[in-house]
Amino acid sequence: VTKNPQQPEVNIGLVGHVDHGKTTLVQALSGSWTDQHSEEMKRGISIRLGYADATFRQIPGVDAPECYTVEEETEDGEETEVRRTVSFVDAPGHETLMATMLSGAAIMDGAILLVSATEDVPQAQTAEHLMALDIIGIENIVIAQNKVDLVDRERAVDNYEQITEFVEGTVAEDAPIIPISAQQEVNLDLLIEAIEEEIPTPDRDETEDSRMFVARSFDINRPGTTWDGLMGGVIGGSVVAGKLEEGDELELRPGREVDEEGQTEWRSITTEVRSLQAGGNMVDEVRPGGLCGVGTGLDPSFTKGDALAGQVAGEPGTLPPTREQFTMDVELLDRVVGGEEDEGIDEISTGEPLMLTVGTATTVGAVTSARSGEAEVSLKRPVCAAEGAKIAINRRVGARWRLIGIGTLK
Ligand code: GDP
Ligand code: MG
Repeated sequence: VTKNPQQPEVNIGLVGHVDHGKTTLVQALSGSWTDQHSEEMKRGISIRLGYADATFRQIPGVDAPECYTVEEETEDGEETEVRRTVSFVDAPGHETLMATMLSGAAIMDGAILLVSATEDVPQAQTAEHLMALDIIGIENIVIAQNKVDLVDRERAVDNYEQITEFVEGTVAEDAPIIPISAQQEVNLDLLIEAIEEEIPTPDRDETEDSRMFVARSFDINRPGTTWDGLMGGVIGGSVVAGKLEEGDELELRPGREVDEEGQTEWRSITTEVRSLQAGGNMVDEVRPGGLCGVGTGLDPSFTKGDALAGQVAGEPGTLPPTREQFTMDVELLDRVVGGEEDEGIDEISTGEPLMLTVGTATTVGAVTSARSGEAEVSLKRPVCAAEGAKIAINRRVGARWRLIGIGTLK
């Protein structure tokens, strides 16, 4: 695994049906296997967050697209030039839950939609993930038609046409479709070229108040560590505004549930930034974009096992409110996406449970009042969110949660 020479500046989601090659592609581009959390968690703060960074480079004096590579040197030993470092957001292999994809989507600046050339288009999650990108407003998309090594030319062309037809009228309508083999590392130069063109690094303002979406949290201490060797809790996620520096004070919301004389309430947590990791390196500051790890002064039992995933961190006193209930404007989809049949979607009714994704937080809420185009929900776990925040709304259909619409926090 090569170290990245600079901080990642953009987050790229990997979406698409299970087994279509998301993790294989991340590995081909970054040299790391995102499924292996536990191995990587063993050592200190240089955890990969379950995500991976890659540095796109180019070979000097060579024309596009052949110049694009992730290698530090060409076969002839010539050094390549760094273009930019990116972070990939890939749902762990066992997490096929839509909730994981949706909370990941909150920190994606763009996405690669993987579609296997070996199957008909669309498979269930291909449709569902594309709809989610649409709903959350991720418009910078590259489609990778993967596994072309397994099909003949005719199949590949047929499949390509199926993809074109499928994305018609969606947010991915104009997305380039790049035939690749992630496993055989074919056409990765063309794919990098498409990513460089379609998924630019967004403009960000480092002078704003710092804001980080927490996607994971850990206890990095080995079992049996004594108190004097104990490291503070670690949070991982993406800085979406401002920047974080070592020594900064940090507030986390909603924080934790405090039980006092039989009354429970959620209180924000305040701590400090003790160490920072980005692009696989320890750094003094983290700028917006890309994924990072933050070592804090928190008791590691607070951060263990993703306990703080879904929270928002930032400069104390500047975070949006913690909400245990809220009202949202609701826009329902026309039909359930990725279902076996084309099912319509009934209005939301009072009393029904919904699974809501707000930022990187996923929470279950009960509808306390439903009107046309609007719903009031009471949450099991509160969220920290500003007015106007987008909310992915999921309803239980049969055995699983299905995306039924988008809400806007009032
Ligand atoms: P994910 O569920 O989308 O993350 O899919 P994986 O990356 O885990 O890949 C699923 C299976 O497909 C694995 O056995 C991979 O080795 C295989 N695979 C992925 N990409 C390719 C490809 O381009 N060609 C071939 N032949 N196999 C592939
Ligand atoms: Mg995978």
